[in-house]
Amino acid sequence: MPLTGIEIFKLLPKTNCGRCGVPTCLAFAMNLAAGKSELSACPDVSEEAQAKLSEASAPPILPVTIGSGAKPLKIGGETVMFRHEKRFENPPGLALLISDTMPSSEVDARLKKCKDLQYYRVGLTLGSELVALRNDSGDAGKFESLASHVKQNSDCNIILMSQSVEALAAAAKAAADRKPLLYAATKDNVDAMAKLAKETGCPLAVKASGLEELVELTNKLTAAGIKNLVLDSGSRKLRQSFEDQVIIRSAALVKKFRPLGFPTIVLPCEMTDDPMKEAVIASIFVAKYGGIIVLSDFNGESLFPLLVERLNIFTDPQRPLATTEGIYPINNPDENSPVLITSNFSLTYFIVSGEIENSKVPTWLLIKDTEGLSVMTSWAAGKFSADVIAPFVLKSGITDKAKHRKLVIPGYIAAESGGLEEELAGWEILVGPREGAHIPAYLKAWKP
Ligand code: SF4
Repeated sequence: MPLTGIEIFKLLPKTNCGRCGVPTCLAFAMNLAAGKSELSACPDVSEEAQAKLSEASAPPILPVTIGSGAKPLKIGGETVMFRHEKRFENPPGLALLISDTMPSSEVDARLKKCKDLQYYRVGLTLGSELVALRNDSGDAGKFESLASHVKQNSDCNIILMSQSVEALAAAAKAAADRKPLLYAATKDNVDAMAKLAKETGCPLAVKASGLEELVELTNKLTAAGIKNLVLDSGSRKLRQSFEDQVIIRSAALVKKFRPLGFPTIVLPCEMTDDPMKEAVIASIFVAKYGGIIVLSDFNGESLFPLLVERLNIFTDPQRPLATTEGIYPINNPDENSPVLITSNFSLTYFIVSGEIENSKVPTWLLIKDTEGLSVMTSWAAGKFSADVIAPFVLKSGITDKAKHRKLVIPGYIAAESGGLEEELAGWEILVGPREGAHIPAYLKAWKP
């Protein structure tokens, strides 16, 4: 059982030195008990206390890493039920199903799809992270060669799904260095799967027919020393599966119930045959509280909305989403193209760059670091005024790219035009539209 805040407090140094980031040991103990702080934040905790506190200091939902190398997927590690309480930590992984009964051309097409459907937004590359290889053939040799083929031809993280321990062992051996997720331990094979997980060092999914059975299995596996677990409550009905997600999350976070303190895997691919419905079901689990979401297939239209939803939900609400400061060429600009400037609040960037793209007018867009604040807010805070914009424009390198000296500023900071003409000697400052929707018409009428 996890320790209470008072029990943790008794084990702390009680010097109230504040080096952990909160003013008192009691406040730190309470945060630790709530999973909002890490024990390592206190530099003075004794080794003896450390040992006793290790359970209390572990996140209520243990983090699990799938894969190795450059892009392993970390799931779990969550500490709050609702995003606004603090933030969600690790976005769910999206997995594309590949069956060992598919022809090799289809396998390769799916691997290519995972590689190609990547989207660059707000400085991040968004895409699916996993392929779920399913042993539908029942043939261990076929499954092993599929795992081997995927390992050699894709850098996606891998889930190995089979009802046969023998087939899983063969495939896991072929892809062992990629640390695939083994799916799944059940009440019928739990001992053999525990042995395989220990031998390979791979994370292990646990599949049950209901939460009570799930608890029995995780108790058994953790007693055997296996803690890298991913939970499947077994339901393939949306309502039951959704309820299971909420119960698992709240049991782990609110009740501190360790047997359910692991990330989950959900399988919309087994809940419907309708691709549209499957995407909608997946979107529900992106919001609450899937750790891995396995899809039977996807294309740009179904994957992109899920990626954007995931990005939004797993963005830290305490830190504005910002675009990197710099020069953004849009529609292949040249030395005569207009130069616009705006703030680095991502929503502003998306809207302005989208409208410029729509206009089809080649344009240079300067993005000034305003700590993620919008045009008006950053202007009001003194982070987007003439004295900070001017040095940025001069250092940005835009003078090497555009031969004219005209700068278009957002209509909302028209008051800065005079100050900018003083700061930027030789430049003409033009006041652009206030609203993004008016940018295309403005650009089409622009003359160098
Ligand atoms: S750093 Fe440790 S000793 Fe100092 S206030 Fe925090 S918990 Fe107490």
